[in-house]
Amino acid sequence: MLDDKDRIFQNLYGQASPGLPAAKKRGDWKGTAAFVKKGREWLVNEVLVSGLRGRGGAGFSTGRKWSFMPKDSALPSYIVVNADESEPGTCKDRDIIRHEPHKLIEGTLYAGVAIGAHVGYIYIRGEFFREAEALQKAIDEAYADGLLGKNAAGSGYDFEIYLHRGAGAYICGEESALLQSLEGKKGMPRLKPPFPANCGLYGCPTTVNNVESIAVVPTILRRGGGWFAALGHPDSTGTKVFCISGHVNTPCTVEEEMGVPLRALVETHAGGVRGGWDNLMAVIPGGSSTPMITKDIAANVTMDFASLQNAGTGLGTASLIVMDKSTDIIESIARLSHFYMHESCGQCTPCREGTGWLWRLLTKIGDGEAELSDIDKLEELTYQIEGHTICALGDAAAWPVQGLLRHFRPELERRIRLVAA
Ligand code: SF4
Repeated sequence: MLDDKDRIFQNLYGQASPGLPAAKKRGDWKGTAAFVKKGREWLVNEVLVSGLRGRGGAGFSTGRKWSFMPKDSALPSYIVVNADESEPGTCKDRDIIRHEPHKLIEGTLYAGVAIGAHVGYIYIRGEFFREAEALQKAIDEAYADGLLGKNAAGSGYDFEIYLHRGAGAYICGEESALLQSLEGKKGMPRLKPPFPANCGLYGCPTTVNNVESIAVVPTILRRGGGWFAALGHPDSTGTKVFCISGHVNTPCTVEEEMGVPLRALVETHAGGVRGGWDNLMAVIPGGSSTPMITKDIAANVTMDFASLQNAGTGLGTASLIVMDKSTDIIESIARLSHFYMHESCGQCTPCREGTGWLWRLLTKIGDGEAELSDIDKLEELTYQIEGHTICALGDAAAWPVQGLLRHFRPELERRIRLVAA
C-alpha cells in the first residue's frame, strides 16, 4: 500500500485550500524556472525514465508520446489537456481539478516545454461548471503571480493557457473529436493517420494528454523519474488515482500504488463490499468500457495494466464499479449499452447501428422475451462492432457485453427459460 510520503495529491479531498499560497506550501511551483531551463530533451527523458503511462485509459507512454512531436516544424505546436472526463464510474480528474488545480497548470507548462509548445488548451467537460470556475480561478492566480504568460515563472519561456468548456458530449473525450470540438466543429473523431503529433489542432503538431497524466509530472520532476519508476510494477509504474463506486460501504476516490490488489483497495479504502466480500457478484475494474470480472478473479487480481489484461479486462481509467448479488447484471450492462448508443457520434455504421442493437437485444433478453439463439446473435454483434470503427467508442460498447457473456451466460439463458416456462 502507498506510503503517505509518496502521495502526490496531498489535497485530493479538499481539506486545504486549492489556492496558490496553499499549493505553494504543498510544494507546487517550486523550482519551476530551473526545470524549464533544463530544456525539452531533459523533460522528455525524465518522464520516460519514470515509466509514466497515460492515465486516460489507453495507457500509452507519456514520454514517448511527447518524443513523437516534431522538433523542426514551421508550424506552432500545441499541448492540449483532456479534461472531458465522462466515463461512467470515473471521477478522478474532477477531484484533481477541484482541489489540486495548480499541479495541473504547472504540469501543463512542463508538457508544453517538452513538446515545444507555447500555448496550452485545457478542454473541460461542459457539465464540470464549478470545476471550470475553480480551474479558471487558479489559472488567473498563476498569471497574476507571473507563473504563466511572458517569461513564465521567470524561466525565459513564454507560455499561455486557455480553458475551453465543452458542451457535454462523451465522444469529445476521444482526442481527435476533442480537437474538432476545440476548433469549433462537431465533435466527431477523425480518421488516423495522420495522428495529432503531425496534424492536430488547426492542422498543427499537437499532443493531447489526460489531466492526471499531466498533474503528476511536476512531482515526477521534483522527486525524479527513478522515484516514480520504483513504485508499482515495472510495466505499471507510480501511483494512480482510483475511483471506487457501486455496492461498497464508502465509495471514494483514492491515490494508491499501481499494482495494489483489487480486494485490498476495496476493503481498505471503500469499506468493503456491501454485505461482505462473499456478497460480491462482479467488478468492472477500469471504467464502464472495460469488461467485468467475477468475484473469484477479483479476489486475486492486482490493479495494473498487465494483470488486468491477463484477466481478460483492462485498467482503463482505474475506476471500479462494484456490483453485489442484488444486481440485475443484464440490466446493468443494458444501461451501459444505452449510454454508448446515446453517445455514438453516428459516423460509422457498426457503431451507430450496432450500439442500438446491443441495447435492444440486451433489453429483450433481460425481459425474458428473447430466444436462446439471441444470445449468440448478441455475441456475434459485439465482434462485428469491435475493431471495425473509426474510434474506440465502438470497442468500448462491445467489451462490457463480451464480459457479461463470458462470465454470466447461464444467467442470460436462465432469464429466457424462466419466462418461457
Ligand atoms: Fe463515431 Fe462510434 Fe465511429 Fe467513434 S466508433 S467515430 S463514436 S460512430
